[in-house]
Amino acid sequence: MAAVCLLRTRSLFRQFVPGLPAAMQRQYSLDISSQLLRTQGYVDGRWVSAASVFPVLDPATGQELARVADCGPAEAKQAVDAAYKAFYSWKQFTAKERSYLLRKWFDLLTLHKEDLAKLITFECGKPMKESLGEIAYSASFIEWFAEEARRTYGDIVPSAAKDRKVLLLKQPVGVASIITPWNFPSAMITRKVGAALAAGCTVVVKPAEDTPLSALALAELASQAGIPPGVFNVVPCSREKTPEVGKVLCTDDLVAKVSFTGSTATGKILLKHAADTVKKVSMELGGHAPFIVFDSADVDMAVAGAMASKFRNSGQTCVCSNRFLVQSGIHDRFMEKLGRAMDAELRLGHGSEPGTTQGPLINSRAADKVVSQVSDAVSRGAKVLRGGKRLHGSFMEPTLLAGVTTDMLCTREETFGPLLPVIRFDSEAEALAIANASHVGLAGYFYSQDISQIWRVAEALEVGMVGVNEGLLSTCEASFGGVKQSGLGREGSKYGIEEYLDVKYMCFGGLKP
Ligand code: ADP
Repeated sequence: MAAVCLLRTRSLFRQFVPGLPAAMQRQYSLDISSQLLRTQGYVDGRWVSAASVFPVLDPATGQELARVADCGPAEAKQAVDAAYKAFYSWKQFTAKERSYLLRKWFDLLTLHKEDLAKLITFECGKPMKESLGEIAYSASFIEWFAEEARRTYGDIVPSAAKDRKVLLLKQPVGVASIITPWNFPSAMITRKVGAALAAGCTVVVKPAEDTPLSALALAELASQAGIPPGVFNVVPCSREKTPEVGKVLCTDDLVAKVSFTGSTATGKILLKHAADTVKKVSMELGGHAPFIVFDSADVDMAVAGAMASKFRNSGQTCVCSNRFLVQSGIHDRFMEKLGRAMDAELRLGHGSEPGTTQGPLINSRAADKVVSQVSDAVSRGAKVLRGGKRLHGSFMEPTLLAGVTTDMLCTREETFGPLLPVIRFDSEAEALAIANASHVGLAGYFYSQDISQIWRVAEALEVGMVGVNEGLLSTCEASFGGVKQSGLGREGSKYGIEEYLDVKYMCFGGLKP
């Protein structure tokens, strides 16, 4: 298949990333197989246009990558209807048949990993190495749920009555609306859709407006894998159309389930929409992860964990550490080594440039937020030890702040950017009080070599996921999800598929001895 560049001509990509060293500047072109470059919606197994289109931009250069069909409420409704119709045949497939098709989809994702990773890098800004990592992670959910599809066991429960048998049967809930963010344009879809399809549900996906291309490439590969029309639908739309499309997806009577990953504020809107028709919901919402380094920690391990947990995707993940708490006895050593690691390891640039570790933030609003947190912290007495400045476009210098206190914006709200604010503390109780003083609780991390402290702190942290001497914890085998206002439900693991299943109780009565 011929390699192509997205829409327009290649010269559009002869752009520099302003503010970066000259040696890193060159032209950036996206060459991928044309079959994976889809710009229409995907409904009932067909590529569909809409009345208008919206642009998808490369966040590193600001250049237009493609113009994508701007689906509205009408297309969303068509997709829901198609998914509803397909549900009645898809749920009749045996678990083994669904498993087989998911496995074929997984194989195709793996086969096309380079191209799929390029799409992520160009529409989301992530360095290629991370994009390849995302595709492996994304595909792992399809593989995992292909396996889980065959294990949706029910129960036969000992009955209290001699003439009765009690059976509990797992059944798919129906049509699931899937609304996903831009920071993992592929994996946030497969983590939900893998589970949904394995369970026997059909889906309508509304990808984030910044990153619809990865979702559409997934649709192309689903079609090649033989997943039947109507089972997997994608309705891309612009920021302007999003509220109307979201409303259809969360209120239509034919939709049984809403699964969302994104901000807590948007999650609350969708929960309200879904309440009227009492839909089943899964919500993966914002985090505000604490990263605690106790005096007993191995400082090198803690520095490596901090680097991985903070600067992955330029700090744009909901499990990125947001508040660093470092005990007095280890504080100065940690800061010195961390500063040196930042100097040595972090390199800004276009994500397709070999050696880049830090791409741009997704858009200028994201960079504005980091800048406002830095200025607020500085005005309240924090010291900038590294970075601190916004470069051109949405590039932001990786920033290290010392002397941070709990009244600063950066310790009160999620940053979603490469800002590492450090609070110094004295006692374990003090660290836990600060860490738990949040209305959200997604991930938390801490470093300690004291086994008693490890148990105490792991149990006391009010979060859904804990990294103990580990800064990266996402994997398909484990349950992903939060407590408090970080959401409802779990994804991945053996629990992920349950979000798409109902338990039906069958009472067999009148049985003769
Ligand atoms: P962010 O601020 O990081 O973009 P959001 O929670 O706004 O996070 O976005 C996550 C997903 O939710 C995206 O697909 C976005 O288009 C979608 N979204 C935002 N607002 C709404 C809404 N009112 N209804 C439905 N989806 C929405």
